[in-house]
Amino acid sequence: MNKGKKLYEGKAKILYGTKDKDLIIQHFKDDATAFNNLKKSSVEGKGVLNNRISEHILSNLSQCGIKTHFIKRLNMREQLIKKAEIFPIEFIVRNIATGSLTKRLGIPEGTVLNKPLLEYCFKKDDLNDPLISKEHIFSFEWATEEDIKEIDKMTLRINDILIGLFRGIGIKLVDFKIEYGKTWNKDTEKKEIVLADEISPDTCRLWDSKTEKKLDKDRFRKDLGNIIQGYQEVARRLGIMPEETNISEVNFGKTIPIKFKKK
Ligand code: UDP
Repeated sequence: MNKGKKLYEGKAKILYGTKDKDLIIQHFKDDATAFNNLKKSSVEGKGVLNNRISEHILSNLSQCGIKTHFIKRLNMREQLIKKAEIFPIEFIVRNIATGSLTKRLGIPEGTVLNKPLLEYCFKKDDLNDPLISKEHIFSFEWATEEDIKEIDKMTLRINDILIGLFRGIGIKLVDFKIEYGKTWNKDTEKKEIVLADEISPDTCRLWDSKTEKKLDKDRFRKDLGNIIQGYQEVARRLGIMPEETNISEVNFGKTIPIKFKKK
């Protein structure tokens, strides 16, 4: 599948068109940003790992009946996905209190929540992706009540599946962010809601079950070092990077000696 025009460049990914108007190519960059772009860096190998981890997670979800935009991985940094009209909403799920929840409401760090907490944020970088309520979503027609009912159900199901997937490899799924879009289903000739974007250590908080060591982007946000080692550890435990590699966290553009299992 040949890459066409660049359609969009975000903080961690680039989207390219293809000859087929319904398909696009999602390219994972090494760039890492935090605090709404105030902190920026390039973490060599991150894009390669996120491409592979997100492929693995979305494929697993798809096997469990969750509709996603993912079609196939094309190479180390790119995947073919269905074009979707993305809802301008970030859907956040929390199982353990940390991050902005602890800051905003003073909930003690590490509090295990009685049941998953769903939050909605308006996807708007200039405004710092503010927290919104369902009423805002309906008022401004960012999604319908029917869409949100379906998305909430899908999100809780995704949380259940992912908690199990990670628990099996000694990782606690603390919280995560997902996005959804609408795609055209040729078979049913209807639009349908699909899970979009990515699920990776950039978008989840993942703690080692025993030591609570952070294996996610908080290593970057909080200057904990060994960012790539955290991501590698997640990939290794998921069984998609069995061999030891020597990706190192350096500044820009060196060749990445990394080996993955062939598909
Ligand atoms: N998150 C994300 N992108 C965002 C904001 C949050 O992927 O733009 C993820 C984040 O990695 C975490 C969860 O959503 O897993 C909850 O993040 P929180 O609101 O605590 O954000 P913080 O401001 O602490 O990064």
